[in-house]
Amino acid sequence: MPTPDPVILVVEDEAPIRRFVVAGLAAHGFAPLEAATATAALMAATSRRPDAILLDLGLPDRDGLDLLKDLRGWYDRPIIVLSARGREEDKVAGLDAGADDYLAKPFGVPELLARLRAALRRSVRDQHPEPVLICGDLALDLVAHRVTRSGEEVHLTPLEFALLAELLRFAGRLVSHRQLISAGWGPQAGPESAGLRLVVHQLRRKIEEDPSQPRRLHTEVGIGYRLTDGA
Ligand code: CA
Repeated sequence: MPTPDPVILVVEDEAPIRRFVVAGLAAHGFAPLEAATATAALMAATSRRPDAILLDLGLPDRDGLDLLKDLRGWYDRPIIVLSARGREEDKVAGLDAGADDYLAKPFGVPELLARLRAALRRSVRDQHPEPVLICGDLALDLVAHRVTRSGEEVHLTPLEFALLAELLRFAGRLVSHRQLISAGWGPQAGPESAGLRLVVHQLRRKIEEDPSQPRRLHTEVGIGYRLTDGA
């Protein structure tokens, strides 16, 4: 029996964008559901339990951030925020409210699919935790506490290890400054952005071909970092 297509709930009040997203998903092996309001979104999320939700924050009947916080009370699958371009504060607020990632409008279908697949992979991995995290030629063994790049051992400090592990857990996805600071310095830590920048700088020297032109560890200005396989 073939596995059913992942059900994706698209919450967006602007009909042209909603139709564009729905068509893109339907053409690539997903089963989209549509909601134009927060009320319809909650109904669809509770009754259909989608595999992931794409959520526009500007909705006519309710603040999308409030809806996001409500959903996070019981919905543990990926939520990707769709945000207007340049609204950094929306992106940070969305991530802090429990979104897994964000897509800045306007976005293309390939970017949408890449983010969605990364989020869904992460969701599966959550249910089946792996002791070895892999991204491209980087491998981090959580049990042996060992990192290799193309099979060669990379020596990291405990702080570098903690941050790289967090980035690898969310490979392909945006990890916020706050999330990284919490992973490295503990959940109670205050703003440590200077310390974070320093550790990222050290990590780049160890995992990038050319640390001044990073191809794996990408900066998302004002928000966080994203680790990719460098391809
Ligand atoms: Ca909107």
